[in-house]
Amino acid sequence: MEPYNPAAARSLPDTGREGTAYFRNDFEFFRTLPEELSALDRLSRNFYWSWHPEGVELFRELDPDLWIECEQSPRTMLRNTSDLRLWQQAADREYVEKLNAFAARFDEYISAANADTNAKIAYLCAEYGVHNSLPNYSGGLGILAGDHLKSSSDLNVPLVAVGLLYRFGYFRQDISHDGWQEEHYNDVFETDLALTPVVDASNERVFVNVHIRGRVVKIQAWLAKVGRIPLLLLDTNLAENTETDRYITGHLYGGDSETRIVQEKVLGIGGVRMLRKLGIAPEVFHLNEGHAAFSTLELAHEFIEKNPDADFASAISAIREQCVFTTHTPVAAGNDVFSPQLLMECFSADYFAAMKAEKEDFIRLGRVDPTDETEPFGMTPFALRMCRTANGVSEKHGEVSRGLWREMFPGLDEVPITHVTNGVHVPTWIASAFQRLYDEKIGKGWHELTRDADAWANAVNNISDSDIWTTHRTLKNLLIAFMRERTRRKDTGERDTINERSDTSRLCSPDVLTIGFARRVAQYKRWNLLLTDLERLLRLVDNAERPVQFIFAGKAHPQDRTAKQILQQLMSINHDSDWQDRAVFIEDYDQEVARYMVQGVDVWMNVPRRPHEASGTSGMKAAMNGILNFSTLDGWWIEGYDETNGFAVGDMRDFESDAEIDAIEAEALYSALENELVPRFYDRDENGFPAKWVAMMRNSITTLTPMFSSDRMVRDYLERIYTD
Ligand SMILES: *Cc1c(COP(=O)(O)O)cnc(C)c1O
Repeated sequence: MEPYNPAAARSLPDTGREGTAYFRNDFEFFRTLPEELSALDRLSRNFYWSWHPEGVELFRELDPDLWIECEQSPRTMLRNTSDLRLWQQAADREYVEKLNAFAARFDEYISAANADTNAKIAYLCAEYGVHNSLPNYSGGLGILAGDHLKSSSDLNVPLVAVGLLYRFGYFRQDISHDGWQEEHYNDVFETDLALTPVVDASNERVFVNVHIRGRVVKIQAWLAKVGRIPLLLLDTNLAENTETDRYITGHLYGGDSETRIVQEKVLGIGGVRMLRKLGIAPEVFHLNEGHAAFSTLELAHEFIEKNPDADFASAISAIREQCVFTTHTPVAAGNDVFSPQLLMECFSADYFAAMKAEKEDFIRLGRVDPTDETEPFGMTPFALRMCRTANGVSEKHGEVSRGLWREMFPGLDEVPITHVTNGVHVPTWIASAFQRLYDEKIGKGWHELTRDADAWANAVNNISDSDIWTTHRTLKNLLIAFMRERTRRKDTGERDTINERSDTSRLCSPDVLTIGFARRVAQYKRWNLLLTDLERLLRLVDNAERPVQFIFAGKAHPQDRTAKQILQQLMSINHDSDWQDRAVFIEDYDQEVARYMVQGVDVWMNVPRRPHEASGTSGMKAAMNGILNFSTLDGWWIEGYDETNGFAVGDMRDFESDAEIDAIEAEALYSALENELVPRFYDRDENGFPAKWVAMMRNSITTLTPMFSSDRMVRDYLERIYTD
């Protein structure tokens, strides 16, 4: 691992004003919209538009090219669309009618919000992937949190979310000519974020303080509206803070251990203080992953302040009743651990003195074995001790987590860790072309039907095979056009890697079986499993009658050289073969790229080494679009796969060594491609129609949508986790 410090590479611009100066949320100051279009301003301030095809179209139609250029950010659109385009739209009766109809739907949705405005549930997470125009996530955890908020909004759950606002977000990826990943950061403050400053009842900005590195750090909050759900994003970028402290909320996962601790202090301790300052008294605090676990400490701190007779132990047992924890990591090494020394430095003795405790009492709570002085402090053991309930994110992951943390519960027959299987937000991930088909064939209420397995299956069974296939073909062409466009924009005329071509029109064909593979480049995801036998792979790709093509995307951790080498190996396959035209890597995997891919390929491949995939969610997104999963039996796929709705790589057997399991599953991967997927996809009836394939697509849509929707997930949390 190379030392890596993005913060060192840049310094903060001096605005001479408070942090708010970075945000041009008051841009009406320099831009007034035509009266006919005034609803656009209101719509742009709530992410509701992003999960409704009509909402997306309203902004895109303003100027389709600009929409791509400003990366689907409505606020940036409203600032940059030309006066001519604005007035053209204002003069277009049809557009204005569509706009007002959508705005009325939005207003109705918001006004039907839960009457009890004091949120019962506080949801805390280090990242949120609500939409690309709020680049505040790195991957699966963030997207899951975003989907949790959207379903909570749709189901009218009284929930408030707390996170951090990362000024530079997560890194953006470029691939160089020699196939090496390079990183850069965008300053998100330069874009127009759909955020408003958090203010109190008298319209004054609200601030809280947290002690960090011997200084008082001042924290402000921004409000992002996710439908009916408020998302509070904490930010230390205030002129009153030292430059170092202003960087606390600078980069998502960009810093060292110390940065992590201070970020987690802001999230946990600052988060609780901010909620209190706003008069919010949740009944449940949901720690989504261990990053937010310091919140429990602040709750104990608060409890003792209010109950001076209580001691540390009784405070913990009292606040424990309010806290619930979701773990997302199936391997010990994946959990956040900190050296006791570092923790000692990051917390002041006064903080614990107020709780009648020593720092050592606290450190012990983060050890599997509290008496083992050599053990580091783990956020997962700490959260497990501080919360009344804990859960993994799939059935298998629940079981794996019980095994992992067994030692923490000596004397108990059953480890008290359960599971709630993850899900994804149906209207965010189902392609708008399918949503329009459902509107027409099932009716506008189709989304509600996805909450009932039988009703959903019946409804979808009224849609013809040819409608499903035609819609899919359109989406596949859309993906190919998107991919060619992205590749053309990158084209420099050199042809060193699979990423650069002079003629993008030859890249991929809509008639060829297309396999999508997009995920983090991490060891256990086994990117190179597919490359185990290159000759066999190229025989599949080069087959004249029944070829196969691949679309890849994914980021490697900036400090992980091995992962970057895997990417480079993939980029460098440059044989005398069709590979160059039938394998594409789309750079800078994000929510937008993910959406095109999970809606447009034929097959979604996933080959994690069992049991390292806690759940996985991208396959769920694909499944709902009739994309057939082709995956090892790990995470959610163990629950989802029924032999008729997708394909399995290998089986559930365990083996002695990683090398052995990799060899066996590589063989299983090739033979399934050769003997099942390729023949099935190219099996056409007398009309040239792939009836057997489409039957599987239908099964994927009917069986997997209700099971893996985040509506189902949020209901599970409501029934089994939030209420005790
Ligand atoms: C859904 C999603 C993920 C999570 O995918 P898995 O590989 O299945 O864990 C990661 N990144 C983005 C951008 C996503 O949309």
